[in-house]
Amino acid sequence: MADIESFIKGEQPEIELRADIGPLIGRLETKLKAAGVTGRRGEPEKKLEYAVRLMIELGLGLRASDIHLSPHIREDGRGNIGMLRYRIDGILHPEAEIDPRLLPAITGRWKTVAGCNPTETSAPQNGRSLLNVRGEELDLRISFHPSVLGESITARILSSKQVIQALSLDRIGYARSDLDRILKALKAPAGMIIVSGPAGCGKTTNLYASVRQIAGPGLKVMSVEDPVEFLLPWVVQARIREEFTFPAAIRSFLRSDPDVIMIGEIRDYQTLALAQQAALTGHLVLTTLHAGNAAGALKRLVDIGSDPLIVRDAASLILAQRLVRRLCVHCSIEAAPTPDSLTAAERIAREGGVNWKELPKKFRKAVGCPKCYLGFRGRTVIAETLEMTPEVGRLLLEGAPAEEIERAAVGQGMITFAADGMRRAAAGETTIEEVLLTLALK
Ligand SMILES: [Zn+2]
Repeated sequence: MADIESFIKGEQPEIELRADIGPLIGRLETKLKAAGVTGRRGEPEKKLEYAVRLMIELGLGLRASDIHLSPHIREDGRGNIGMLRYRIDGILHPEAEIDPRLLPAITGRWKTVAGCNPTETSAPQNGRSLLNVRGEELDLRISFHPSVLGESITARILSSKQVIQALSLDRIGYARSDLDRILKALKAPAGMIIVSGPAGCGKTTNLYASVRQIAGPGLKVMSVEDPVEFLLPWVVQARIREEFTFPAAIRSFLRSDPDVIMIGEIRDYQTLALAQQAALTGHLVLTTLHAGNAAGALKRLVDIGSDPLIVRDAASLILAQRLVRRLCVHCSIEAAPTPDSLTAAERIAREGGVNWKELPKKFRKAVGCPKCYLGFRGRTVIAETLEMTPEVGRLLLEGAPAEEIERAAVGQGMITFAADGMRRAAAGETTIEEVLLTLALK
């Protein structure tokens, strides 16, 4: 109780270090130097505070999206270890092992940073911290999860500079033809633009960037999300709650005279039917759907329960996408792919609408340097855009399978995201293996 009272009064409990934190600080400093972050040291501070700050700075230096720190049993079963890992371009990389005796103190410090209660160790907690780290404004969303070995920490790093840059359609990395189709659909006064793909393929980023592209004083834009991830200018944003569901939000929108409606995700028939009603009554609707590819997304709308005729009339553009890691421009080198990779790439490209023979080939491979992570730096989107043409509409009404709809769309100029990926590999932006790896993920 005394601890809680002093915490409420704003006093920091003295955190006891049960082992030497010096070696961890040394490792983090070395890693930070290797990541190219050098120079300015902050104010003198206690070792524990310094160690946690280094963890955050390393996240920034590695351009990580998340910091993960959790206790694990060793692979040989002999005792526990704290693992500090960073998610970089979608992949989790271990960066340091931490003496498990240090974990309670480090977790306590993270809780103070997050504005959470350091004395609560058995319940999940969520916190947030706005920090200026080496001149960059960071928004950290920090979660604490009790595990049987101790608490696990996850910190999502949002850099306001990176967020604003990322939320721009022409910086996401769409091929020119896809970008043109997206911009054309966004200019229409009505219709439904559906972004599909699995979790973590950049659907939400596309949605935000699309809305940002058109929102302004002359349009009323209303959005409902789960949750609201970024605040956008000129958009009335709401998040769903128990009583305020997606359908309830759309019904409310329709009484609020909007021009553009953004719906975080379509998960059920009721939401879909209302979204279609909005699209058919003069509103531009932007939403996302969990589906494998663009043709599959159309079929999924029918599976959810929609009349194919309404799907045809409401949908204007179906986008499907994946993210692939980009080769580092500082260290990648020219290299011919293996014959197997080349055969796979050629088949995928040809089936997906790319004229492989006439494509200039500038294959490169990953090397690795201080400016990147294992030869890759950042990600780009590979995408396909399916327009609701009369031919696609006819096949949909006939109940044709997704493969047939896709073939028809490719015949009319669509390039599948798989083929787009191979085109990027041929241009030296990424590698065939990286695209194949992404395509294999469900
Ligand atoms: Zn590099």
